[in-house]
Amino acid sequence: MNRLVNMLIIIVIGLQMSPSAKANWFDQKVAEQPAVKKVIEYLDEHFQQQVAQWITISEIPAPPGQEKMRAKYISAQFRQLGLIPQNDELGNIWVVLKGIKQGPTLLFAAHMDTVFDADTDVKVTRKNGRLYGPGVWDNSASVANMLAVVEAMVKTGYQPQGDVIFLATVQEEAGLVGMKYFMKKQSNNIDYVAALDGNLGPILYGALGIYWMDMTFTAAGAHTVNSYNQPHPAKAAAHCILDIYDIDLDIKEHQETPLGIFNVGQVHGGKIYNGIPPEVNVTVDLRSADPKELKRLNSEITQACKSAADNESVSFELSYKVKNAAGGTINKMKPAFNGDFVQTIISIQSYTGALKQGQIPAIATGSTDANIGVVRGLPSFSMGRSYGKDQHTLGEWADIASAKVGTNQIIYLLAALDASQQ
Ligand SMILES: [Zn+2]
Repeated sequence: MNRLVNMLIIIVIGLQMSPSAKANWFDQKVAEQPAVKKVIEYLDEHFQQQVAQWITISEIPAPPGQEKMRAKYISAQFRQLGLIPQNDELGNIWVVLKGIKQGPTLLFAAHMDTVFDADTDVKVTRKNGRLYGPGVWDNSASVANMLAVVEAMVKTGYQPQGDVIFLATVQEEAGLVGMKYFMKKQSNNIDYVAALDGNLGPILYGALGIYWMDMTFTAAGAHTVNSYNQPHPAKAAAHCILDIYDIDLDIKEHQETPLGIFNVGQVHGGKIYNGIPPEVNVTVDLRSADPKELKRLNSEITQACKSAADNESVSFELSYKVKNAAGGTINKMKPAFNGDFVQTIISIQSYTGALKQGQIPAIATGSTDANIGVVRGLPSFSMGRSYGKDQHTLGEWADIASAKVGTNQIIYLLAALDASQQ
């Protein structure tokens, strides 16, 4: 081949590569810096202590809104390392590791709460390389990973470029309540958000919008014998339910799930056989990653049920138990996907081997504390803790060894951001 052909090939390869050559802060050199290696070695040597702490955390009951005991334990661990934990009125708790420069601030957030009530037996059993127990994977694993990294950083003297915040949130399972509260007050000081949650595997860089709608139909009520033609909350509720299932969903050919979806989850009302119930409640769980579709469905559902109430001459009231905004469709999330932050964690995942063969590296939706960062326009994602299964059930389990990968990825992400600042 002559030089001209050679050059042409180089140019062609260059052209082909440039659109897909994405910015990324991580490479092997980052992982091999002495300060990073020290942290990894420390984590490795202390992994059995990490697992013991993981079990301890998991065995402290923490229903949403009742995370106090768990928070107290975490606080004590921070204090033992000479750190000063901060907290807010809701019970979120965090430490800030100060940066040596005026670099960007990275927030790691792991939720403390579980879906289980205070009476659930949360004893953990260890069997065949797994931990079994309600909440052991979601999200005690992440809390333990996070504590291990904080300890390793402190003990090895790792100094970040910018500030790093390690936050344990409350009430994630109740609709990201704690994170929302924290970000309302602190988001001006935060540049990047990494929620620690979910399976080890594809990261989630989008935000599924979720509305939990509570609709109440009320009227005076009446004895059956006097009920002829009287306003009837149950009839209104019935029309409401049937009518909203007539709303067209936006489902494209070859797609399995529509752009937005909803479900009637609860119907309550009435206490007696022989009278019109004065109050009937209907709840709807509405979800879409597309803000426009979320808005459309919300307004059509509201309109349909309001009309059903008007036609029946009963009162109608709507409130929201959860109202979490949507991040955007996969197209809208493209800049986030191509951004440094997401590309860096993708690169870290190939380095650590967190992704299984054929798995896509990142998904444009999500329903974790990272959502709050996404809808605020901050580079955000949630990254996995370990492999496991059956979260939100009593049979929940987590693979022990893979928690090491989930833990290492935390320090690699921080080190990559630091490397980008040098
Ligand atoms: Zn979770």
